[in-house]
Amino acid sequence: MKLLEERIRRDGIVRPGNVLKVDSFINHQMDIALFEEMAKEWKRRFAGKPVNKILTIEASGIGIAAIAAREFQVPVVFAKKSQSINLDADNYVTKIHSFTHGREYEVIVSKKFLGSDDHVLILDDFLANGCALLGLLEITQMAGATVEGIGIAVEKGFQEGGRLIREQGIQLESLAIVESMDAQTGKVRFRCQEKENA
Ligand code: 5GP
Repeated sequence: MKLLEERIRRDGIVRPGNVLKVDSFINHQMDIALFEEMAKEWKRRFAGKPVNKILTIEASGIGIAAIAAREFQVPVVFAKKSQSINLDADNYVTKIHSFTHGREYEVIVSKKFLGSDDHVLILDDFLANGCALLGLLEITQMAGATVEGIGIAVEKGFQEGGRLIREQGIQLESLAIVESMDAQTGKVRFRCQEKENA
């Protein structure tokens, strides 16, 4: 998606250790007009899929998923990252390794909000090694829900997550796929996406 790629080129910051900061428009300050365009693009790419729920993970996925949910006209469920006293005992729980924080944490979804009737679109801001998505996929499996596809804003194509997901035969639609990035020059190169019409 050209609009997102241009924005990353303009405002993204490449940090050592393969970290791309997008906190001026996605991760901290959020550009809702951009999110709306992203939502339209996912709607186009997943046209015809019987999505009845969007699943994401706190915190950065929530803003993107909320705007997309309005486009798809379905509710959003976000996986919580730590056990909370407000949650029912009846939860799906799994463990995820965090790329950004370098530690393991629990991910929790209440059984009330995900079940075998659900046709889920999973959305998240970043795809790196795929740990977050594999955790969300495990949760949908526990629930017996059907995964209709996965939408990602920024995939780091040089890390293995994209391959792991596509190998499972799941439709994965990343709106910008970073082929390489250089912390010294700040330069970001994107993979060409044939299906794109934007
Ligand atoms: P994964 O589980 O695929 O390794 O990493 C995905 C999660 O890590 C995302 O939800 C995102 O929060 C975070 N993440 C991974 N790589 C980056 C990055 O380069 N920049 C930012 N801002 N977050 C990242």
